Amino acid sequence: MQRRSTKQRETVYHALMHLYHPTAEEVYEYLRSEAPSIGRATVFRNLAVLSEEGRIVKLFFPDEVAHYDANTDGHYHFICRHCEKIIDLPATQKLSFPKSDRFTVDEQSVNFYGVCRECQK
Ligand SMILES: [Zn+2]
Ligand SMILES: [Zn+2]
Repeated sequence: MQRRSTKQRETVYHALMHLYHPTAEEVYEYLRSEAPSIGRATVFRNLAVLSEEGRIVKLFFPDEVAHYDANTDGHYHFICRHCEKIIDLPATQKLSFPKSDRFTVDEQSVNFYGVCRECQK
C-alpha cells in the first residue's frame, strides 16, 4: 500500500511537470488517459501532500481555484486577463518580508496582469 501511494504521488508529480500551472481538475483530466487507475480524490490528496512537502507550490489567485506549480524556485507570474493563462517570469528582486504584530509572512508571490501576445492578435 505504501509503495502504491508513493508511485501514485510520483505519477501526479510528473503530470504537473507536463502541465503548466494546472488546477487539480486539469491534473485529473490529464491523468484520466495517462493513468486511469488514479481517481479524483487521489489526485487532490497527492497534490496537497506534494505542496506540504514543498515539492510543488500551490498558487492562490483571488476568487479562483488553486493552481499548482512544479517550479519551486521563487519566480513571478504573469496572468493574462483575457485567457487567464499563467506565464512564469524570473524574479528580478527578492522583497523583504514586512514585519507586523498583526500577522506573520511566510511566503511572497508577485503577479503581473495584462494581455498575452496571443490575445493581442
Ligand atoms: Zn491570453
Ligand atoms: Zn510558475
